[in-house]
Amino acid sequence: MAKIKKKIKTIKIDISKCNGCRACEMICSAFHANPKYSSNNPERSRIRMFREPLNDVYLPVYAGEYAAAECMGRDIYVLDGREYEECAFCRAACPSRDLFHEPDSGLPLKCDMCEDDPPQEVPLCVKWCVNDALVYEEREEEVDEEESIDDVEVGLQSLVDKHGLQKLVETITRMSQKD
Ligand code: SF4
Ligand code: SF4
Repeated sequence: MAKIKKKIKTIKIDISKCNGCRACEMICSAFHANPKYSSNNPERSRIRMFREPLNDVYLPVYAGEYAAAECMGRDIYVLDGREYEECAFCRAACPSRDLFHEPDSGLPLKCDMCEDDPPQEVPLCVKWCVNDALVYEEREEEVDEEESIDDVEVGLQSLVDKHGLQKLVETITRMSQKD
């Protein structure tokens, strides 16, 4: 298999510096609005804050992969005496929760590291975090060439999982026949 150079993008999260301001959610949802910057809605953000001031919990989490099914069990972490919400550290757009799903359509959301058009050199949530709780790093790795699945395919797969292929095909056919 051919080797290719792959850019690995990392965001280091220092939760001790996060004050729960939610600026990251605001800029992410505004950048991904259609048209761009026309609205903002944290529920559409690809980064979400678990925020419990009484427990001193401020935990930014990035939207990862779409998960068709939930796990058989759930984790609750207690770190340094703080208890985090069930599945708090999980990045999946999973059917067990609304997190990382479009509020209207239920389609899965995934952080694209701000590679959306126009691609950003530094992710916007990192730029907007005035407390430096988020720090961006890049490196290159040599990896085997692999086939990538695009967002449209992942979105369609989630609708197939939810409604069945037949219903989806019928709906798309009906929509394409409308004026
Ligand atoms: S990197 Fe970009 S897409 Fe990902 S959460 Fe931050 S602002 Fe949103
Ligand atoms: S912008 Fe920074 S400080 Fe504000 S909620 Fe996001 S990660 Fe935390």
